[in-house]
Amino acid sequence: MDQYKPTLILIHISIDLIVLGTRLTFMKSKLSIGLYWFRHDLRLTDNRTFNKLCSEVDRLICVYVKGQEKEFRSSFSEGETGRFKHKFEQESAVELDIALRKKKQYLLFVDAPAHQSIVDLIENYSITHMGVEEHPGIYETKSLDAIQASCPHVQYITDISHNLFNESDLPFELGNLPETFTPFRKRVENISIDPPIAALLELPHAIEPMPQAPEELSFSGRVRGGEVAGNEQLNKYLFGTDLIKQYKQTRNALDDWDSSSKLSMWLANGSLSARTVYHTIKQYESQRGENESTYWLYFELLWREYYQWYLAKHRGKLFQFSGVKQITPSTNFNENTFKRWCDGRTKYPIVNACMLQLNQTGYMSNRGRQLVASCFVHELGLDWRYGAAYFEQQLIDHDVASNWGNWQYLAGVGADPQSHRRFNLAKQTATYDPDAVFRKKWLGSEQQ
Ligand SMILES: Cc1cc2nc3c(=O)[nH]c(=O)nc-3n(C[C@H](O)[C@H](O)[C@H](O)COP(=O)(O)OP(=O)(O)OC[C@H]3O[C@@H](n4cnc5c(N)ncnc54)[C@H](O)[C@@H]3O)c2cc1C
Repeated sequence: MDQYKPTLILIHISIDLIVLGTRLTFMKSKLSIGLYWFRHDLRLTDNRTFNKLCSEVDRLICVYVKGQEKEFRSSFSEGETGRFKHKFEQESAVELDIALRKKKQYLLFVDAPAHQSIVDLIENYSITHMGVEEHPGIYETKSLDAIQASCPHVQYITDISHNLFNESDLPFELGNLPETFTPFRKRVENISIDPPIAALLELPHAIEPMPQAPEELSFSGRVRGGEVAGNEQLNKYLFGTDLIKQYKQTRNALDDWDSSSKLSMWLANGSLSARTVYHTIKQYESQRGENESTYWLYFELLWREYYQWYLAKHRGKLFQFSGVKQITPSTNFNENTFKRWCDGRTKYPIVNACMLQLNQTGYMSNRGRQLVASCFVHELGLDWRYGAAYFEQQLIDHDVASNWGNWQYLAGVGADPQSHRRFNLAKQTATYDPDAVFRKKWLGSEQQ
């Protein structure tokens, strides 16, 4: 993945200044005024929570809290958000602003902590309705609960927009979600999935005159945040290149951009919906034929889906040392060893190469993630939660349910039926990097 240097000038608007002009106008009016908070659903297509809110209100304000991804991180993750992740997030939000402007709306970027800024907006604009995606993350849930407690008079419109299924589609109660993936997959994989819904052509009017658009916006490099780029990647991977036809054979590669869909980044911040991906796969199959690989991309989406419900069921246990299984691992935390792993300075070249790839791009392949996580727990004897927290900070595609669920799986305290999945790093190196191409690329020819 190329490095890139987007130049973004985000709109800085002081909430106090904006509200002064309109406060009195709306205070006594009978208009219904909606506030939509965009979180992990930075898109207009297939955003039914947003559409629902729009159908209920006369006026609308759309809000994005700058740096909100940091607010939603676990308490283990103290460092700054990785620069690639940060840029991707900014790009996605700016692109959403551009899409809204085409419909005579705009995104208000606020700087303050989420709870305070949303409550202030609700009070200052006499908001009657608030819309926000329903998300299983602990902090996401807590922040919405706190807003609801502070503003009980507001009507809240929430819905799940991150998943393939609605909770009512599941053929079991959430409390009976299977504890491992395979029984889950078998019970859900033939359920029909709602088609994505179109973006609204017209939106309720803004409550303020539109501020000036970002003056300059330039992107470069392969990975660009936002709804347009996410859809481009989806269509390119399927219809543009037919790469999906070999997906099952190529998906384990350590470093080849085309080996897997790379959709995780757009799925994670919701600039692309999982339903859109699913229905595009189905469209591809009906036009160009299905095979094991086209099915396998859906199979992997089901893994993502499984972890979303797994987090919704197990909540805080996903972040506990003893995990969902409540087995206490015989590992602990050593700062020096941890730092060496983060920096790619362990005695395992394959692990070091993967960590440098992560640090220099914000992405790591699925195979790489399995190897470095297995090394973290089984070779270095470290508390898995710190590894998950480092991923949380660095991965562009960080998704709380997928990340913590996969780490628990590899630490033997989560959804793995085997309980002890230790990768033989020498054997894995021989299989996945037989000619040392990957190690040479990231470590140079002497260190591997
Ligand atoms: C320790 C560890 C941590 C991980 N952390 C994350 C994370 O924070 N965010 C994230 O999206 N994925 C995570 N994964 C899963 C997986 O590695 C990535 O989804 C995948 O590498 C992304 O690349 P891709 O889009 O090309 O995937 P593809 O192989 O093209 O898969 C298509 C989609 O299926 C989903 N998917 C694939 N594999 C998994 C999986 N094992 N678990 C859940 N969903 C999956 C993703 O949404 C992905 O975009 C993690 C895996 C491990 C082992």
